[in-house]
Amino acid sequence: MMKSASGAHWINGEWIASGGATQFEAISPVDGAVIGNAPEGGRETAEAAIAAARRAFFGSDWAHSPRLRADVLLKQAAAVEAHNADLSRLLSMETGKLISVARLEIAAAASELRYYAGLARAIGGRMLEVEPGVYSHLVREPAGVVAVITPWNAPAILLVRSLGPALAAGCTVVLKPAPQSALFHTAFVRCLAEVAELPVGVLNSFCEQGSAGGECLVTSPDVDVLSFTGSSAVGRKIMMAASGTLKRLNLELGGKAPALVFDDCDADAVAPQLATAALILTGQQCTALSRVLVHESRYDALTQALRRALTAMPVGRSDDERSKIGPLIDVRARDRVQHLVETHADNALLQGRVPASLPASGAYLSPSLLAIEDLESPVIQDEIFGPVLNIERFTTEAEAVTKANATRYGLSASVWTHDLDRAYRVSRALRSGTVWLNDHNKLFPEAETGGHRDSGFGRLHGIDGLNEFLSTKHIYHRFGRLRGHA
Ligand code: NAD
Repeated sequence: MMKSASGAHWINGEWIASGGATQFEAISPVDGAVIGNAPEGGRETAEAAIAAARRAFFGSDWAHSPRLRADVLLKQAAAVEAHNADLSRLLSMETGKLISVARLEIAAAASELRYYAGLARAIGGRMLEVEPGVYSHLVREPAGVVAVITPWNAPAILLVRSLGPALAAGCTVVLKPAPQSALFHTAFVRCLAEVAELPVGVLNSFCEQGSAGGECLVTSPDVDVLSFTGSSAVGRKIMMAASGTLKRLNLELGGKAPALVFDDCDADAVAPQLATAALILTGQQCTALSRVLVHESRYDALTQALRRALTAMPVGRSDDERSKIGPLIDVRARDRVQHLVETHADNALLQGRVPASLPASGAYLSPSLLAIEDLESPVIQDEIFGPVLNIERFTTEAEAVTKANATRYGLSASVWTHDLDRAYRVSRALRSGTVWLNDHNKLFPEAETGGHRDSGFGRLHGIDGLNEFLSTKHIYHRFGRLRGHA
């Protein structure tokens, strides 16, 4: 039982907890309990947040103070780290994330803030003499007001991977979390916002269950960059709605990660790794393994080993340290995934069920293993976002790559083989923003991630992540040349 928490907006250096606004409830997927509520933002709140960010961008020295920015980011990292225990408990109860995974996410968010604190002090342009005495100075400037819209599945790290580089670049920001993680987001923003050196209005945030405030961020001419992480369907809507203002977009969207397992792999050795890769966040991670493509000579062995590995992972409450699979985000998501599995029951090698031993009002579902070869099937084409893995077979390297590339997504993939030449050849042929060799779901602040096609565009993490929030300005000047000297 946890004590109730509340969401709030942080605008222009002030907390706004309700102000008469409608509230929405946060329901824990662990046991269906109401664990708090948050105020509904909407258009007016979004406009106030954008106005505060705009005033801070033009009215403070933030954009011109890389040392201050580095200092603030380091202090934010320390605050997040100091509150890891409370933050991870709330994250786990509100979104159903396993407590051990929640702790790692908070630690990773602090690490990412530190990474961008370092880069804040390394932003520099270049100066060229293009003709005698004629100079072009290319200055790297912050892009302006940034709106960051995030999903619920990793609300600390997905926020920080946009916010960290935006602040490092000298931008001011408005944050809008998913309603399913509004309480955690508020507690997390408290750590970021209450750093004394942060100028008023540089960081703003609001919650909402509807989409009026989010839509305002997308269409406002006063937002210069929109960094969106979420589904491809909403990403597509956002791209259309943003076209009116031609703002810069960074879209990190859905995924359908394949693993290509070649004939030199030991099925018993790789199956537990593949099962873990598929069941990360109960399959609700954009990079979670969704399809196993295996050489036909290993198909039977891997199928059996995967069934064993998936069954061996206990489903349980997210605050139980023994659980390996927590609940889905809500009962509606659980019912959607269960229905999909039931529709394909004829192809199920393992059929997920609602465990009778867990709270009936929680959102639990045990894992499924399907064996569908039809590339047009929704199981292969659509992002399921739940504990479901499909296994398919191939005979040649070319067929493996063609099948892996046969969805609209292109976010991440993994290649499993000890033949290094093959591993590299295949990685280069995959249309995917990330390829892991003999591993899966390895993500770092230093290494860029992003997608192709329906998985979106732009890159976050790494140096490219910083570039999403910087603009290059050319300043020309004919200084002239001194002549006649020795
Ligand atoms: P979602 O698209 O439903 O919502 C994402 C965010 O957009 C939320 O904050 C939501 O409130 C907001 N939103 C919804 N409609 C909007 C609108 N019309 N205008 C502005 N904002 C709007 O996604 P979700 O269910 O929260 O998250 C799951 C999805 O996110 C999956 O598809 C997953 O693959 C994707 N995801 C991608 C990455 C990545 O790095 N590519 C990472 C994590 C999650």
